[in-house]
Amino acid sequence: MDGADSANASEQGVAIVSEAICEEIIGRPEAFTAVENVFAAMARDNAYNFPVVREAIGHADALYGFKSGFDRAGMVLGVKSGGYWPGNVDKNLTNHQSTVILFDPDTGQLKALVGGNYLTAVRTAAASAVSIAHLARKDAKVLGMVGAGHQSTFQLRAAVEQRDFEKVIAWNPHPEYLPRLAAVCEELGLPFEAVDREQLGAEADVIITITSAFEPLLMKDWIKPGTHIACMGTDTAGKQEVDPQLLAAASVFTDEVAQSVSIGEAQHAIASGLISDSDITSVGEVINGTHPGRRNEQEITLFDGTGVGLQDLAVASAAAELAQQKGLAKQISL
Ligand code: NAD
Repeated sequence: MDGADSANASEQGVAIVSEAICEEIIGRPEAFTAVENVFAAMARDNAYNFPVVREAIGHADALYGFKSGFDRAGMVLGVKSGGYWPGNVDKNLTNHQSTVILFDPDTGQLKALVGGNYLTAVRTAAASAVSIAHLARKDAKVLGMVGAGHQSTFQLRAAVEQRDFEKVIAWNPHPEYLPRLAAVCEELGLPFEAVDREQLGAEADVIITITSAFEPLLMKDWIKPGTHIACMGTDTAGKQEVDPQLLAAASVFTDEVAQSVSIGEAQHAIASGLISDSDITSVGEVINGTHPGRRNEQEITLFDGTGVGLQDLAVASAAAELAQQKGLAKQISL
């Protein structure tokens, strides 16, 4: 943004963009583009995530924190603040609550307050979709879903747009949630089957894991050659969704290597010495064409989607801009 635009933004005041407006204006294509662009910028060292703060506040069992960063390529500066309030379910509220705050990188002035709950789900789904677009075999036909919670339907909808899938198979530790995925498949006209984990590994060409697991749910020997796996659930120290041997056998890609090795799926393979940091490639390098990505049809590719603050800022900035263009943002002066 140049100086004239920034003066303009300051005259406009602060844009307030509600959850409902975000849902109205940010669809899967907008989220995909925003996330793909920011992953590319990160790999060019043109966008940086700042250290994440996440603390138990000693009240309401809540975990609260900040994810912040600066995207110099997109001129987006800000912070997503929020966390996890387990008691919210009894209040008819989503357990994960977040708000994105955007600042003008030229002046530091507050630019926008954007609801972050819906955007978190679409940006997380966009991350695995970007990985599928760039790393999965072109002829992938069967999508395997592991996990059937809140994020899973967003993941499913974004994934099926990336390849010509003919069938969706799924497994979840709580099978009673699976009808949620079956309903989306019915709406999309895709056959759906609940399977056991071994069958899922044997049949799926692309697998998404999106659970809160703390132990491996998929073993290396169950996964067939040529599979692409997007591990999306592990975003905290101690969480785990797949066998560390699978990371040793696969070509591993991620949103950000520093998060992958510390809070992502790779933390376990790193801790047991099966792989090192240098074995993990930023997916942005594949997007930028500085890494070839998948090398052959037999290779297993694994995307460790840890969730970075810049993803949140990218979709929130797109939401704020579109809302302002369409006259949907509420403008206030501080
Ligand atoms: P949710 O609570 O709605 O669903 C949780 C899912 O995990 C369900 O499929 C449930 O059956 C399963 N599950 C619960 N406890 C389990 C256990 N002990 N072992 C194995 N599976 C278990 O949660 P959600 O909003 O769908 O989020 C799923 C996961 O994705 C969470 O771990 C969340 O932190 C993570 N997440 C990651 C990102 C990212 O950017 N990578 C973004 C948002 C959420």
